[in-house]
Amino acid sequence: MELWDMPVKDILEHISSGEISATEVLEHYLHAIREKDSQVNALIEVLEPMARMDASRVDALLREGQSPGALAGLPVAVKDNICVKGAGCTSGSKIMENWVSPYDATAIKRLRDRGAIIIGKTNMDEFAMGSSTETSAFGITKNPWDLTRVPGGSSGGSAAAVASGMAPLALGTDTGGSIRQPASFNGICGLKPTYGLVSRYGVTAYASSLDTVGPFGETVWDCALLLEAIAGHDPMDATCALREAVAYTKRLDGSVEGLRVGVPRELLHGVAAPVKAQFHNTLSAMENMGMIVEETGLPSLAYGVEAYYAIASAEASSNLARFDGVRFGRRAAADTLDEMYTRSRGEGLGREVIKRILLGTFVLEPGNKDRYFMQAARVRTLIKREFEKAFENFDLIVSPASPDVAFKIGDRIRDPLTMYLADLITIPVNMAGVCALSMPMGFVDCGGSTLPCGLQIIGKPFDEPTVLRAGHCLEQEIGAGIREEMRNMRRKLGPVRECELVD
Ligand code: GLN
Repeated sequence: MELWDMPVKDILEHISSGEISATEVLEHYLHAIREKDSQVNALIEVLEPMARMDASRVDALLREGQSPGALAGLPVAVKDNICVKGAGCTSGSKIMENWVSPYDATAIKRLRDRGAIIIGKTNMDEFAMGSSTETSAFGITKNPWDLTRVPGGSSGGSAAAVASGMAPLALGTDTGGSIRQPASFNGICGLKPTYGLVSRYGVTAYASSLDTVGPFGETVWDCALLLEAIAGHDPMDATCALREAVAYTKRLDGSVEGLRVGVPRELLHGVAAPVKAQFHNTLSAMENMGMIVEETGLPSLAYGVEAYYAIASAEASSNLARFDGVRFGRRAAADTLDEMYTRSRGEGLGREVIKRILLGTFVLEPGNKDRYFMQAARVRTLIKREFEKAFENFDLIVSPASPDVAFKIGDRIRDPLTMYLADLITIPVNMAGVCALSMPMGFVDCGGSTLPCGLQIIGKPFDEPTVLRAGHCLEQEIGAGIREEMRNMRRKLGPVRECELVD
């Protein structure tokens, strides 16, 4: 079997039993990057020398009979708004082009402590603002299922890297859907953890009260493995919950019979007919597995998008003040101090980011604050309460992960309203601070391409174990065909050297 066809679980076992070295695994993925990334553009930076050193350290430990940790030798691609010591951290922006991180984010430190190999930094919408990875200053990432389409965003590079077989695992961030929507567009799994479960220390802030860090993987098990490594309290992040990580991978098996699943009508508005059809098939599969599926209503979700864009932009306008050419970022030449600030920001930041900063500044102005920002905060409280109430009756809430499959590059970037409205399904989860998994549920034929679409499984705060268990069990039912399609897509994308494995 070729390495890129192998489940992460098996790769881990082969490394720890010595059948294959961490270095061989890394070289395989570096080769895949060389072959495929010229087409996909998922990576901003490949950390070749650093990754090779880390892999040889893992191999040395294994040779000495020591355990390098639960992720020994597994390459992980990391969204470029998460700091990795000695690597760039552009957040997809020109203003941060030449900055090198002097430290590891907590999530990265935890991965490295467990033997993971950080293979590269992935492309993203500038400062995580967007849903298509088209606003990056480092070019557009292409969807490996159809190179004329977007990979989703803002963590489009991470999702495309995993889907195309350039990394077995990846980290992303999710403020309003940036893990779940790209997971859906790429036919892989992605988890937005409960707010506060994973430390944000060392992660470039977009909207601090909504930002979360989470895993991407081909399977639910892969996401559970990565979450297990990065979750848990961190004194460096005051918003991090006083909770320790759970052994999520150990809690995947078990019964899902009798789980009560709510389907909010509001999350089906505007969903494309073929996606809706796949969703209904999936609901039937869940019922056949013994889950109790019932329609429900969460009326305030209809106001989620408007409230989100007021809150997220307000927070961004404050968080991004530090990118001024003095504290952070490239400094423009100028004669006066004012001119230096204006030019540094004007030249370094892209249009979408500038628009959000202006919008955020506007909603926070004294005359506007009550009318817009406070009103949005009230909507947020309503959404949170509605979720709390719904979770009195349901264990899980489900919906499609995106109203449609991946759209064509260029189609929506000139139509931002349509782009913003498509976040309707994912945004309420961040507003309520709860957790949600996005996993592939099927395919849609679209203009000659077969494109994946995803299911969103929303859970109570810190109830990742139930969300992951439901996803894992469902995957056993519907996952085989999805994996097969993924293999075909990867073959079409480009040949990758066979990996010699001793059987
Ligand atoms: N698309 C949303 C936005 O542009 C969400 C982005 C995110 O989750 N980082 O703000």
